[in-house]
Amino acid sequence: MTKINTKVNSADSKSNFDFQAIIIGAGIGGLYQLYKLRESGFNVRIFDSGGDVGGTWYWNRYPGARFDSESYSYGYSFSKELLAEWDWKEHFASQPEILSYLRYVAQKFDLVKDIQFNSTVKAATYSEDLQGWQIELEDGRSYTGQYLITAIGLLSEPVMPKIKGVGTFNGPEFHTARWPHDGIDYKDKKVGIIGTGASGVQTIQELAKDVKNLTVFQRRPNWCAPLHNSRISENEMQEIRASYSDIFQRCKDTVAGFLHSVDPRSAFEVTSQERYQFWEDLYASRGFGIWQGNFKDVLTDPKANKEMSDFVANKIRDRVIDPYTAEKLIPKDHGFGTRRVPLETHYYECYNQPNVKLIDISESPIIEITHQGISTATHNYDVDIIIYATGFDAIVGSYNQIEFKGVEGKTLRDQWEEELKTFLGLQVSNFPNMFMVMGPHALLGNNPRSIEYNVEWINDLLNYMEKNNKTRVEATEESVDSWAKYVAEMGEGLLSNDVDSWMTGVNLNLEGRSQRIVARYSGTAQSYRTRCDEVASSGYKELKLR
Ligand code: NAP
Repeated sequence: MTKINTKVNSADSKSNFDFQAIIIGAGIGGLYQLYKLRESGFNVRIFDSGGDVGGTWYWNRYPGARFDSESYSYGYSFSKELLAEWDWKEHFASQPEILSYLRYVAQKFDLVKDIQFNSTVKAATYSEDLQGWQIELEDGRSYTGQYLITAIGLLSEPVMPKIKGVGTFNGPEFHTARWPHDGIDYKDKKVGIIGTGASGVQTIQELAKDVKNLTVFQRRPNWCAPLHNSRISENEMQEIRASYSDIFQRCKDTVAGFLHSVDPRSAFEVTSQERYQFWEDLYASRGFGIWQGNFKDVLTDPKANKEMSDFVANKIRDRVIDPYTAEKLIPKDHGFGTRRVPLETHYYECYNQPNVKLIDISESPIIEITHQGISTATHNYDVDIIIYATGFDAIVGSYNQIEFKGVEGKTLRDQWEEELKTFLGLQVSNFPNMFMVMGPHALLGNNPRSIEYNVEWINDLLNYMEKNNKTRVEATEESVDSWAKYVAEMGEGLLSNDVDSWMTGVNLNLEGRSQRIVARYSGTAQSYRTRCDEVASSGYKELKLR
Protein backbone atom coordinates (compact mmCIF):
# COMPACT_ATOMS: atom_id res chain seq x y z
CA MET A 1 0.00 0.00 0.00
CA THR A 2 1.34 3.39 -0.94
CA LYS A 3 2.00 5.60 2.04
CA ILE A 4 0.31 8.98 1.96
CA ASN A 5 2.39 11.90 3.09
CA THR A 6 -0.15 13.62 5.30
CA LYS A 7 2.36 16.14 6.60
CA VAL A 8 2.50 18.02 3.35
CA ASN A 9 1.15 21.57 3.74
CA SER A 10 1.94 22.95 0.39
CA ALA A 11 1.90 21.57 -3.08
CA ASP A 12 4.97 23.53 -4.11
CA SER A 13 6.99 20.42 -4.56
CA LYS A 14 5.72 18.00 -7.17
CA SER A 15 7.48 15.21 -5.31
CA ASN A 16 4.81 15.50 -2.62
CA PHE A 17 2.55 13.57 -4.92
CA ASP A 18 2.80 10.03 -6.16
CA PHE A 19 1.96 11.37 -9.61
CA GLN A 20 1.50 14.83 -11.04
CA ALA A 21 -1.59 13.66 -12.85
CA ILE A 22 -3.86 10.73 -12.19
CA ILE A 23 -6.16 9.66 -15.00
CA ILE A 24 -9.09 7.33 -14.44
CA GLY A 25 -9.86 5.21 -17.49
CA ALA A 26 -7.73 3.64 -20.23
CA GLY A 27 -10.17 4.04 -23.09
CA ILE A 28 -9.79 6.30 -26.11
CA GLY A 29 -9.81 9.42 -23.89
CA GLY A 30 -7.50 8.22 -21.12
CA LEU A 31 -4.89 6.85 -23.51
CA TYR A 32 -4.62 10.08 -25.44
CA GLN A 33 -4.56 12.13 -22.23
CA LEU A 34 -1.68 10.02 -20.96
CA TYR A 35 0.18 10.41 -24.24
CA LYS A 36 -0.33 14.17 -24.32
CA LEU A 37 0.59 14.87 -20.71
CA ARG A 38 3.63 12.66 -20.84
CA GLU A 39 4.73 14.46 -23.99
CA SER A 40 4.44 17.68 -21.94
CA GLY A 41 6.73 16.21 -19.30
CA PHE A 42 4.18 15.27 -16.65
CA ASN A 43 4.49 12.22 -14.47
CA VAL A 44 1.19 10.40 -15.06
CA ARG A 45 -0.56 7.19 -14.06
CA ILE A 46 -3.80 5.74 -15.41
CA PHE A 47 -5.99 3.54 -13.23
CA ASP A 48 -8.53 1.30 -14.94
CA SER A 49 -10.78 -1.45 -13.66
CA GLY A 50 -10.33 -3.49 -16.84
CA GLY A 51 -7.54 -5.94 -17.55
CA ASP A 52 -6.39 -4.15 -20.69
CA VAL A 53 -6.74 -0.90 -22.60
CA GLY A 54 -9.89 -0.08 -24.55
CA GLY A 55 -12.56 1.17 -22.12
CA THR A 56 -15.88 0.83 -23.95
CA TRP A 57 -14.22 -1.43 -26.52
CA TYR A 58 -12.68 -3.60 -23.81
CA TRP A 59 -16.02 -4.23 -22.11
CA ASN A 60 -18.53 -4.36 -24.95
CA ARG A 61 -17.63 -7.71 -26.51
CA TYR A 62 -21.08 -8.80 -27.58
CA PRO A 63 -21.27 -10.39 -31.04
CA GLY A 64 -21.83 -7.73 -33.66
CA ALA A 65 -20.40 -4.84 -31.60
CA ARG A 66 -18.87 -2.36 -34.01
CA PHE A 67 -18.43 1.32 -34.81
CA ASP A 68 -21.46 3.12 -36.16
CA SER A 69 -19.16 5.83 -37.52
CA GLU A 70 -16.69 5.32 -40.34
CA SER A 71 -13.55 3.71 -38.86
CA TYR A 72 -11.21 6.26 -40.46
CA SER A 73 -13.17 9.12 -38.89
CA TYR A 74 -13.25 7.45 -35.48
CA GLY A 75 -9.57 6.67 -34.93
CA TYR A 76 -7.00 9.07 -33.50
CA SER A 77 -5.91 11.90 -35.76
CA PHE A 78 -2.94 13.15 -33.72
CA SER A 79 -0.17 10.99 -35.15
CA LYS A 80 0.70 10.97 -38.85
CA GLU A 81 2.82 7.91 -38.24
CA LEU A 82 -0.09 6.03 -36.73
CA LEU A 83 -2.36 7.05 -39.61
CA ALA A 84 0.27 5.82 -42.04
CA GLU A 85 0.72 2.50 -40.29
CA TRP A 86 -2.79 1.37 -39.42
CA ASP A 87 -5.01 -0.31 -42.04
CA TRP A 88 -8.69 -0.41 -41.23
CA LYS A 89 -10.30 -3.63 -42.47
CA GLU A 90 -13.92 -2.49 -42.59
CA HIS A 91 -15.71 0.79 -43.11
CA PHE A 92 -17.25 0.20 -39.67
CA ALA A 93 -14.72 -1.74 -37.62
CA SER A 94 -15.84 -4.58 -35.37
CA GLN A 95 -15.00 -4.63 -31.66
CA PRO A 96 -12.07 -7.09 -32.03
CA GLU A 97 -10.49 -4.85 -34.68
CA ILE A 98 -11.04 -1.74 -32.55
CA LEU A 99 -9.48 -3.40 -29.51
CA SER A 100 -6.47 -4.49 -31.60
CA TYR A 101 -6.15 -0.90 -32.79
CA LEU A 102 -6.16 0.51 -29.26
CA ARG A 103 -3.64 -2.13 -28.14
CA TYR A 104 -1.47 -1.16 -31.08
CA VAL A 105 -1.67 2.51 -30.09
CA ALA A 106 -0.80 1.68 -26.46
CA GLN A 107 2.17 -0.38 -27.54
CA LYS A 108 3.41 2.05 -30.19
CA PHE A 109 3.50 4.95 -27.75
CA ASP A 110 4.70 2.82 -24.85
CA LEU A 111 1.65 3.75 -22.78
CA VAL A 112 1.13 0.51 -20.87
CA LYS A 113 4.00 1.11 -18.47
CA ASP A 114 2.01 3.98 -16.97
CA ILE A 115 -1.29 2.14 -16.69
CA GLN A 116 -2.41 0.19 -13.64
CA PHE A 117 -5.05 -2.34 -14.75
CA ASN A 118 -7.54 -4.20 -12.55
CA SER A 119 -7.60 -1.11 -10.36
CA THR A 120 -11.07 0.20 -9.70
CA VAL A 121 -11.10 3.67 -8.20
CA LYS A 122 -13.58 3.73 -5.36
CA ALA A 123 -13.10 7.25 -4.01
CA ALA A 124 -11.30 10.44 -4.94
CA THR A 125 -10.92 13.20 -2.37
CA TYR A 126 -9.58 16.69 -2.84
CA SER A 127 -7.29 17.85 -0.06
CA GLU A 128 -6.79 21.57 0.45
CA ASP A 129 -3.62 20.76 2.45
CA LEU A 130 -2.17 18.80 -0.41
CA GLN A 131 -3.76 21.02 -3.02
CA GLY A 132 -4.33 17.84 -4.88
CA TRP A 133 -6.19 14.58 -4.96
CA GLN A 134 -6.03 11.33 -3.12
CA ILE A 135 -7.64 8.36 -4.81
CA GLU A 136 -8.53 5.12 -3.13
CA LEU A 137 -8.81 1.82 -4.97
CA GLU A 138 -11.25 -0.94 -4.18
CA ASP A 139 -8.37 -3.09 -2.89
CA GLY A 140 -7.45 -0.43 -0.31
CA ARG A 141 -4.40 1.03 -2.00
CA SER A 142 -4.32 4.79 -2.35
CA TYR A 143 -2.35 7.32 -4.35
CA THR A 144 -2.03 11.07 -4.59
CA GLY A 145 -1.91 13.32 -7.61
CA GLN A 146 -1.87 17.05 -8.10
CA TYR A 147 -4.36 16.77 -10.93
CA LEU A 148 -7.18 14.31 -11.41
CA ILE A 149 -8.55 13.63 -14.87
CA THR A 150 -11.59 11.46 -15.43
CA ALA A 151 -11.85 9.68 -18.76
CA ILE A 152 -14.56 7.30 -17.61
CA GLY A 153 -16.95 7.49 -20.53
CA LEU A 154 -20.56 8.52 -20.80
CA LEU A 155 -22.00 5.07 -21.45
CA SER A 156 -19.94 2.81 -19.25
CA GLU A 157 -22.10 1.94 -16.28
CA PRO A 158 -24.38 -0.93 -17.34
CA VAL A 159 -27.87 -1.08 -15.87
CA MET A 160 -29.75 -4.30 -15.27
CA PRO A 161 -33.54 -4.14 -15.53
CA LYS A 162 -35.64 -3.73 -12.45
CA ILE A 163 -37.39 -7.09 -12.86
CA LYS A 164 -38.06 -9.64 -10.16
CA GLY A 165 -35.74 -12.64 -10.34
CA VAL A 166 -32.81 -11.07 -12.22
CA GLY A 167 -29.76 -13.07 -11.12
CA THR A 168 -31.67 -16.24 -10.30
CA PHE A 169 -31.84 -17.79 -13.77
CA ASN A 170 -30.28 -21.27 -13.94
CA GLY A 171 -28.22 -20.58 -17.05
CA PRO A 172 -25.89 -17.78 -18.08
CA GLU A 173 -27.41 -14.28 -17.84
CA PHE A 174 -25.46 -11.12 -18.45
CA HIS A 175 -25.55 -7.55 -19.75
CA THR A 176 -24.25 -6.87 -23.28
CA ALA A 177 -21.52 -4.64 -21.80
CA ARG A 178 -20.39 -7.53 -19.58
CA TRP A 179 -20.32 -10.22 -22.25
CA PRO A 180 -18.13 -13.06 -20.93
CA HIS A 181 -14.52 -12.49 -21.98
CA ASP A 182 -13.95 -16.13 -22.83
CA GLY A 183 -17.07 -16.09 -24.99
CA ILE A 184 -20.25 -18.08 -24.73
CA ASP A 185 -21.46 -20.84 -26.95
CA TYR A 186 -24.87 -19.67 -28.16
CA LYS A 187 -24.94 -21.82 -31.31
CA ASP A 188 -28.11 -23.90 -31.45
CA LYS A 189 -29.19 -22.51 -28.07
CA LYS A 190 -32.48 -20.89 -27.06
CA VAL A 191 -31.69 -17.28 -26.27
CA GLY A 192 -33.84 -14.50 -24.78
CA ILE A 193 -32.74 -10.89 -25.17
CA ILE A 194 -34.28 -7.86 -23.47
CA GLY A 195 -33.74 -4.45 -25.07
CA THR A 196 -33.72 -3.09 -28.61
CA GLY A 197 -31.41 -0.05 -28.46
CA ALA A 198 -28.17 0.17 -30.47
CA SER A 199 -26.55 -2.67 -28.45
CA GLY A 200 -29.62 -4.91 -28.69
CA VAL A 201 -29.97 -4.38 -32.44
CA GLN A 202 -26.30 -5.20 -33.11
CA THR A 203 -26.53 -8.31 -30.93
CA ILE A 204 -29.85 -9.58 -32.31
CA GLN A 205 -28.82 -9.41 -35.96
CA GLU A 206 -25.65 -11.39 -35.21
CA LEU A 207 -27.15 -14.00 -32.88
CA ALA A 208 -30.05 -14.67 -35.26
CA LYS A 209 -27.58 -16.33 -37.64
CA ASP A 210 -26.62 -19.12 -35.25
CA VAL A 211 -29.04 -19.64 -32.40
CA LYS A 212 -31.72 -22.29 -32.31
CA ASN A 213 -34.22 -19.61 -31.48
CA LEU A 214 -34.08 -16.04 -30.37
CA THR A 215 -36.88 -14.38 -28.43
CA VAL A 216 -36.61 -10.60 -28.49
CA PHE A 217 -38.39 -8.78 -25.65
CA GLN A 218 -39.08 -5.28 -26.90
CA ARG A 219 -40.57 -2.53 -24.76
CA ARG A 220 -40.30 0.32 -27.27
CA PRO A 221 -38.92 -0.01 -30.80
CA ASN A 222 -36.28 2.40 -32.13
CA TRP A 223 -35.94 3.85 -35.62
CA CYS A 224 -33.05 1.90 -37.12
CA ALA A 225 -31.35 2.59 -40.45
CA PRO A 226 -28.99 0.55 -42.62
CA LEU A 227 -25.27 0.73 -41.85
CA HIS A 228 -24.07 -0.48 -45.27
CA ASN A 229 -20.80 -1.80 -43.97
CA SER A 230 -18.25 -3.41 -46.28
CA ARG A 231 -14.61 -4.44 -46.27
CA ILE A 232 -11.98 -1.87 -47.19
CA SER A 233 -9.81 -3.00 -50.09
CA GLU A 234 -6.10 -2.19 -50.22
CA ASN A 235 -6.75 0.44 -52.87
CA GLU A 236 -9.52 2.01 -50.86
CA MET A 237 -7.25 2.13 -47.79
CA GLN A 238 -4.61 3.89 -49.85
CA GLU A 239 -7.18 6.46 -50.94
CA ILE A 240 -8.39 6.90 -47.37
CA ARG A 241 -4.83 7.38 -46.17
CA ALA A 242 -4.19 9.98 -48.85
CA SER A 243 -7.30 11.90 -47.77
CA TYR A 244 -6.88 11.83 -43.98
CA SER A 245 -6.35 15.56 -43.75
CA ASP A 246 -9.60 16.16 -45.69
CA ILE A 247 -11.43 13.59 -43.57
CA PHE A 248 -10.45 15.24 -40.30
CA GLN A 249 -11.03 18.72 -41.67
CA ARG A 250 -14.52 17.63 -42.71
CA CYS A 251 -15.19 16.26 -39.22
CA LYS A 252 -14.03 19.59 -37.84
CA ASP A 253 -16.43 21.48 -40.10
CA THR A 254 -19.58 19.46 -39.41
CA VAL A 255 -22.04 20.17 -36.64
CA ALA A 256 -21.31 17.07 -34.56
CA GLY A 257 -17.88 16.02 -35.80
CA PHE A 258 -19.16 13.29 -38.12
CA LEU A 259 -18.31 12.97 -41.79
CA HIS A 260 -21.94 13.78 -42.58
CA SER A 261 -23.07 17.38 -42.75
CA VAL A 262 -26.60 18.66 -42.37
CA ASP A 263 -28.25 19.54 -45.69
CA PRO A 264 -28.85 23.31 -45.72
CA ARG A 265 -32.30 22.87 -47.32
CA SER A 266 -35.49 22.38 -45.38
CA ALA A 267 -37.58 19.33 -46.20
CA PHE A 268 -40.43 21.25 -47.81
CA GLU A 269 -38.26 23.62 -49.78
CA VAL A 270 -37.88 20.95 -52.45
CA THR A 271 -40.50 19.06 -54.45
CA SER A 272 -41.89 15.91 -52.95
CA GLN A 273 -40.12 13.91 -55.67
CA GLU A 274 -36.75 15.49 -54.78
CA ARG A 275 -37.42 14.98 -51.08
CA TYR A 276 -38.14 11.29 -51.46
CA GLN A 277 -35.22 10.76 -53.84
CA PHE A 278 -32.93 12.41 -51.28
CA TRP A 279 -34.25 10.12 -48.54
CA GLU A 280 -33.89 7.07 -50.80
CA ASP A 281 -30.27 8.07 -51.41
CA LEU A 282 -29.66 8.53 -47.69
CA TYR A 283 -31.26 5.17 -46.90
CA ALA A 284 -28.93 3.57 -49.45
CA SER A 285 -25.81 5.34 -48.18
CA ARG A 286 -23.36 4.45 -45.42
CA GLY A 287 -23.58 5.31 -41.77
CA PHE A 288 -25.17 8.22 -39.98
CA GLY A 289 -25.89 10.31 -43.13
CA ILE A 290 -29.60 9.63 -42.75
CA TRP A 291 -29.50 11.04 -39.21
CA GLN A 292 -26.77 13.68 -39.35
CA GLY A 293 -26.90 14.61 -43.04
CA ASN A 294 -30.64 15.02 -43.45
CA PHE A 295 -32.62 18.19 -44.26
CA LYS A 296 -31.87 20.87 -41.69
CA ASP A 297 -35.36 20.77 -40.15
CA VAL A 298 -35.96 17.03 -39.85
CA LEU A 299 -34.90 17.03 -36.19
CA THR A 300 -36.66 20.30 -35.32
CA ASP A 301 -39.86 20.63 -37.38
CA PRO A 302 -42.56 18.13 -36.33
CA LYS A 303 -44.08 18.12 -39.83
CA ALA A 304 -40.76 17.38 -41.57
CA ASN A 305 -39.96 14.80 -38.92
CA LYS A 306 -43.33 13.11 -39.37
CA GLU A 307 -42.84 12.79 -43.12
CA MET A 308 -39.33 11.39 -42.65
CA SER A 309 -40.65 8.96 -40.03
CA ASP A 310 -43.38 7.80 -42.43
CA PHE A 311 -40.73 7.22 -45.08
CA VAL A 312 -38.68 5.00 -42.73
CA ALA A 313 -41.82 3.24 -41.45
CA ASN A 314 -42.63 2.22 -45.02
CA LYS A 315 -39.10 0.85 -45.40
CA ILE A 316 -39.69 -1.31 -42.32
CA ARG A 317 -43.02 -2.50 -43.77
CA ASP A 318 -41.23 -3.39 -47.02
CA ARG A 319 -38.59 -5.37 -45.21
CA VAL A 320 -40.65 -7.30 -42.65
CA ILE A 321 -42.94 -9.90 -44.21
CA ASP A 322 -45.46 -10.24 -41.37
CA PRO A 323 -47.44 -6.96 -41.24
CA TYR A 324 -48.28 -7.45 -37.56
CA THR A 325 -44.57 -7.76 -36.63
CA ALA A 326 -43.69 -4.84 -38.92
CA GLU A 327 -46.13 -2.57 -37.08
CA LYS A 328 -44.62 -3.65 -33.74
CA LEU A 329 -41.17 -2.62 -35.01
CA ILE A 330 -42.30 0.88 -35.99
CA PRO A 331 -41.97 3.44 -33.19
CA LYS A 332 -45.23 5.23 -32.49
CA ASP A 333 -44.15 7.33 -29.50
CA HIS A 334 -41.28 9.31 -31.04
CA GLY A 335 -40.13 10.49 -34.44
CA PHE A 336 -37.15 9.42 -36.50
CA GLY A 337 -33.81 10.59 -35.10
CA THR A 338 -35.18 11.94 -31.84
CA ARG A 339 -33.42 9.08 -30.04
CA ARG A 340 -30.01 7.82 -31.07
CA VAL A 341 -30.53 5.92 -34.35
CA PRO A 342 -29.24 2.33 -34.14
CA LEU A 343 -27.53 1.36 -37.39
CA GLU A 344 -28.29 -2.14 -38.61
CA THR A 345 -27.39 -4.85 -41.09
CA HIS A 346 -30.39 -7.03 -42.03
CA TYR A 347 -31.89 -6.37 -38.60
CA TYR A 348 -35.45 -6.16 -39.86
CA GLU A 349 -35.02 -9.26 -42.03
CA CYS A 350 -34.17 -11.27 -38.87
CA TYR A 351 -37.86 -11.13 -38.03
CA ASN A 352 -38.62 -12.99 -41.27
CA GLN A 353 -36.61 -15.96 -39.98
CA PRO A 354 -38.54 -18.81 -38.33
CA ASN A 355 -36.06 -18.89 -35.42
CA VAL A 356 -36.64 -15.23 -34.35
CA LYS A 357 -39.71 -14.08 -32.43
CA LEU A 358 -40.59 -10.57 -31.32
CA ILE A 359 -42.48 -10.17 -28.05
CA ASP A 360 -44.07 -6.80 -27.37
CA ILE A 361 -43.67 -6.39 -23.62
CA SER A 362 -45.48 -3.07 -23.67
CA GLU A 363 -48.59 -5.24 -24.19
CA SER A 364 -47.59 -8.18 -22.06
CA PRO A 365 -44.95 -7.02 -19.55
CA ILE A 366 -42.19 -9.20 -18.16
CA ILE A 367 -43.29 -10.28 -14.69
CA GLU A 368 -40.31 -12.31 -13.62
CA ILE A 369 -37.03 -13.93 -14.54
CA THR A 370 -37.46 -17.53 -13.42
CA HIS A 371 -34.97 -20.41 -13.10
CA GLN A 372 -36.06 -21.54 -16.57
CA GLY A 373 -36.40 -18.28 -18.42
CA ILE A 374 -38.57 -15.20 -18.82
CA SER A 375 -42.21 -14.97 -17.77
CA THR A 376 -44.50 -12.31 -19.17
CA ALA A 377 -48.05 -11.62 -18.07
CA THR A 378 -49.27 -14.19 -20.60
CA HIS A 379 -46.46 -16.69 -21.34
CA ASN A 380 -43.43 -18.47 -19.92
CA TYR A 381 -40.45 -18.54 -22.28
CA ASP A 382 -37.91 -21.25 -21.45
CA VAL A 383 -34.42 -20.28 -22.64
CA ASP A 384 -30.79 -21.40 -22.24
CA ILE A 385 -29.22 -17.91 -22.10
CA ILE A 386 -30.59 -14.49 -21.11
CA ILE A 387 -29.02 -11.32 -22.47
CA TYR A 388 -29.78 -7.91 -21.01
CA ALA A 389 -29.29 -5.22 -23.66
CA THR A 390 -30.84 -2.80 -21.23
CA GLY A 391 -28.50 0.17 -21.57
CA PHE A 392 -26.49 2.32 -19.22
CA ASP A 393 -26.69 4.80 -16.41
CA ALA A 394 -25.64 7.36 -18.98
CA ILE A 395 -23.56 10.51 -18.57
CA VAL A 396 -23.48 10.73 -14.76
CA GLY A 397 -23.58 6.98 -14.00
CA SER A 398 -19.83 6.37 -14.19
CA TYR A 399 -19.28 9.41 -11.93
CA ASN A 400 -21.76 8.08 -9.38
CA GLN A 401 -19.71 4.90 -9.05
CA ILE A 402 -16.82 6.84 -7.51
CA GLU A 403 -17.19 8.91 -4.37
CA PHE A 404 -15.73 12.21 -5.55
CA LYS A 405 -15.32 14.64 -2.67
CA GLY A 406 -14.45 18.24 -3.39
CA VAL A 407 -13.76 21.20 -1.14
CA GLU A 408 -15.29 20.86 2.32
CA GLY A 409 -16.12 17.23 1.60
CA LYS A 410 -19.10 17.87 -0.64
CA THR A 411 -19.75 14.93 -2.94
CA LEU A 412 -20.15 15.32 -6.66
CA ARG A 413 -23.21 13.10 -6.54
CA ASP A 414 -24.95 15.46 -4.07
CA GLN A 415 -23.89 18.50 -6.02
CA TRP A 416 -25.23 17.11 -9.31
CA GLU A 417 -28.40 15.87 -7.68
CA GLU A 418 -29.19 19.49 -6.90
CA GLU A 419 -28.50 20.44 -10.51
CA LEU A 420 -26.28 18.99 -13.21
CA LYS A 421 -23.83 21.79 -13.95
CA THR A 422 -20.30 21.88 -15.34
CA PHE A 423 -18.08 24.39 -17.03
CA LEU A 424 -17.70 23.30 -20.68
CA GLY A 425 -18.14 19.71 -19.53
CA LEU A 426 -14.52 19.98 -18.42
CA GLN A 427 -14.63 21.23 -14.83
CA VAL A 428 -17.00 21.44 -11.88
CA SER A 429 -17.15 24.13 -9.21
CA ASN A 430 -15.89 22.92 -5.77
CA PHE A 431 -13.70 20.31 -7.47
CA PRO A 432 -10.36 22.06 -8.02
CA ASN A 433 -7.69 20.45 -10.18
CA MET A 434 -10.19 17.93 -11.49
CA PHE A 435 -10.90 17.72 -15.21
CA MET A 436 -13.29 15.59 -17.20
CA VAL A 437 -12.67 14.26 -20.68
CA MET A 438 -16.17 14.50 -22.14
CA GLY A 439 -17.94 15.12 -18.87
CA PRO A 440 -21.63 16.08 -18.70
CA HIS A 441 -22.48 19.01 -20.99
CA ALA A 442 -19.37 18.56 -23.11
CA LEU A 443 -19.62 18.10 -26.85
CA LEU A 444 -20.85 14.63 -27.87
CA GLY A 445 -21.26 13.48 -31.47
CA ASN A 446 -18.26 11.83 -33.06
CA ASN A 447 -16.65 11.09 -29.71
CA PRO A 448 -12.97 10.66 -30.60
CA ARG A 449 -13.01 14.06 -32.28
CA SER A 450 -14.47 15.62 -29.13
CA ILE A 451 -12.09 13.61 -26.95
CA GLU A 452 -9.03 14.83 -28.81
CA TYR A 453 -10.22 18.40 -28.44
CA ASN A 454 -10.94 18.00 -24.68
CA VAL A 455 -7.62 16.30 -24.01
CA GLU A 456 -5.63 18.99 -25.77
CA TRP A 457 -7.53 21.74 -23.93
CA ILE A 458 -6.76 20.10 -20.57
CA ASN A 459 -3.13 19.61 -21.56
CA ASP A 460 -2.82 23.28 -22.53
CA LEU A 461 -4.31 24.40 -19.23
CA LEU A 462 -1.96 22.23 -17.16
CA ASN A 463 1.00 23.52 -19.15
CA TYR A 464 -0.21 27.07 -18.57
CA MET A 465 -0.40 26.41 -14.84
CA GLU A 466 3.09 24.96 -14.71
CA LYS A 467 4.49 27.85 -16.67
CA ASN A 468 2.75 30.45 -14.51
CA ASN A 469 3.40 28.79 -11.15
CA LYS A 470 -0.27 28.08 -10.49
CA THR A 471 -1.15 25.04 -8.44
CA ARG A 472 -4.91 25.24 -8.09
CA VAL A 473 -7.64 25.78 -10.66
CA GLU A 474 -11.36 25.68 -10.13
CA ALA A 475 -14.48 26.53 -12.10
CA THR A 476 -16.41 29.40 -10.55
CA GLU A 477 -20.12 29.32 -9.71
CA GLU A 478 -20.70 32.03 -12.32
CA SER A 479 -18.93 30.05 -15.02
CA VAL A 480 -20.89 26.82 -14.40
CA ASP A 481 -24.15 28.77 -14.19
CA SER A 482 -23.53 30.52 -17.47
CA TRP A 483 -22.53 27.26 -19.21
CA ALA A 484 -25.62 25.47 -17.89
CA LYS A 485 -27.77 28.30 -19.24
CA TYR A 486 -26.03 28.20 -22.61
CA VAL A 487 -26.41 24.41 -22.84
CA ALA A 488 -30.14 24.72 -22.12
CA GLU A 489 -30.52 27.43 -24.77
CA MET A 490 -28.65 25.36 -27.36
CA GLY A 491 -31.07 22.49 -26.88
CA GLU A 492 -34.18 24.60 -27.45
CA GLY A 493 -36.31 23.51 -30.38
CA LEU A 494 -34.82 20.03 -30.69
CA LEU A 495 -37.54 17.38 -30.92
CA SER A 496 -35.24 14.95 -29.09
CA ASN A 497 -35.69 16.99 -25.92
CA ASP A 498 -39.34 15.94 -25.79
CA VAL A 499 -38.52 12.24 -25.86
CA ASP A 500 -37.42 9.91 -23.06
CA SER A 501 -33.97 8.48 -23.69
CA TRP A 502 -30.52 8.38 -22.13
CA MET A 503 -29.91 11.65 -23.98
CA THR A 504 -32.56 13.36 -21.86
CA GLY A 505 -31.37 11.67 -18.68
CA VAL A 506 -34.32 9.26 -18.35
CA ASN A 507 -33.71 5.72 -17.11
CA LEU A 508 -36.74 3.89 -15.82
CA ASN A 509 -34.58 1.26 -14.12
CA LEU A 510 -33.12 3.85 -11.75
CA GLU A 511 -34.85 5.59 -8.87
CA GLY A 512 -35.55 9.28 -9.39
CA ARG A 513 -34.67 9.23 -13.08
CA SER A 514 -38.03 9.46 -14.75
CA GLN A 515 -37.90 13.23 -15.36
CA ARG A 516 -36.18 14.67 -18.41
CA ILE A 517 -33.22 16.96 -17.82
CA VAL A 518 -30.79 18.82 -20.03
CA ALA A 519 -28.21 16.05 -19.98
CA ARG A 520 -26.05 16.92 -22.98
CA TYR A 521 -24.70 19.87 -24.89
CA SER A 522 -26.46 19.95 -28.23
CA GLY A 523 -25.06 23.08 -29.84
CA THR A 524 -22.62 22.88 -32.70
CA ALA A 525 -19.06 21.60 -32.41
CA GLN A 526 -17.86 24.94 -33.74
CA SER A 527 -19.58 27.00 -31.04
CA TYR A 528 -18.32 24.58 -28.39
CA ARG A 529 -14.73 24.91 -29.55
CA THR A 530 -15.02 28.67 -29.99
CA ARG A 531 -16.16 29.04 -26.38
CA CYS A 532 -13.40 26.77 -25.04
CA ASP A 533 -10.78 28.52 -27.16
CA GLU A 534 -11.94 31.91 -25.82
CA VAL A 535 -11.47 30.71 -22.25
CA ALA A 536 -7.93 29.57 -23.02
CA SER A 537 -6.88 32.62 -25.01
CA SER A 538 -8.10 34.97 -22.27
CA GLY A 539 -5.62 33.31 -19.88
CA TYR A 540 -8.38 31.20 -18.26
CA LYS A 541 -9.85 34.32 -16.65
CA GLU A 542 -13.19 32.59 -16.06
CA LEU A 543 -11.50 30.00 -13.86
CA LYS A 544 -10.25 30.60 -10.32
CA LEU A 545 -6.48 30.14 -10.68
CA ARG A 546 -3.95 30.58 -7.92
P1 NAP B 1 -30.34 1.94 -24.78
O1 NAP B 1 -30.33 2.66 -26.06
O2 NAP B 1 -30.60 2.70 -23.56
O3 NAP B 1 -31.39 0.77 -24.94
C1 NAP B 1 -31.77 -0.01 -23.85
C2 NAP B 1 -32.89 -0.91 -24.29
O4 NAP B 1 -33.29 -1.73 -23.20
C3 NAP B 1 -34.14 -0.16 -24.73
O5 NAP B 1 -34.73 -0.84 -25.79
C4 NAP B 1 -35.01 -0.19 -23.47
O6 NAP B 1 -36.38 -0.06 -23.71
C5 NAP B 1 -34.68 -1.58 -22.97
N1 NAP B 1 -34.94 -1.75 -21.55
C6 NAP B 1 -34.30 -1.15 -20.52
N2 NAP B 1 -34.81 -1.54 -19.36
C7 NAP B 1 -35.80 -2.41 -19.64
C8 NAP B 1 -36.71 -3.16 -18.85
N3 NAP B 1 -36.70 -3.06 -17.53
N4 NAP B 1 -37.60 -3.95 -19.48
C9 NAP B 1 -37.60 -4.01 -20.82
N5 NAP B 1 -36.77 -3.34 -21.63
C10 NAP B 1 -35.88 -2.54 -21.04
O7 NAP B 1 -28.96 1.18 -24.53
P2 NAP B 1 -27.93 0.60 -25.60
O8 NAP B 1 -28.61 -0.13 -26.66
O9 NAP B 1 -26.88 -0.09 -24.84
O10 NAP B 1 -27.32 1.89 -26.26
C11 NAP B 1 -26.94 3.01 -25.47
C12 NAP B 1 -26.05 3.91 -26.29
O11 NAP B 1 -24.75 3.34 -26.39
C13 NAP B 1 -26.48 4.11 -27.72
O12 NAP B 1 -27.53 5.02 -27.87
C14 NAP B 1 -25.19 4.57 -28.34
O13 NAP B 1 -24.95 5.92 -28.10
C15 NAP B 1 -24.17 3.73 -27.60
N6 NAP B 1 -23.87 2.54 -28.40
C16 NAP B 1 -23.06 2.75 -29.48
C17 NAP B 1 -22.76 1.72 -30.32
C18 NAP B 1 -21.89 2.01 -31.50
O14 NAP B 1 -21.41 3.09 -31.71
N7 NAP B 1 -21.65 1.12 -32.34
C19 NAP B 1 -23.29 0.46 -30.09
C20 NAP B 1 -24.10 0.27 -28.97
C21 NAP B 1 -24.39 1.32 -28.13
P3 NAP B 1 -37.07 1.39 -23.71
O15 NAP B 1 -36.63 2.05 -24.97
O16 NAP B 1 -38.52 1.11 -23.66
O17 NAP B 1 -36.56 2.12 -22.49
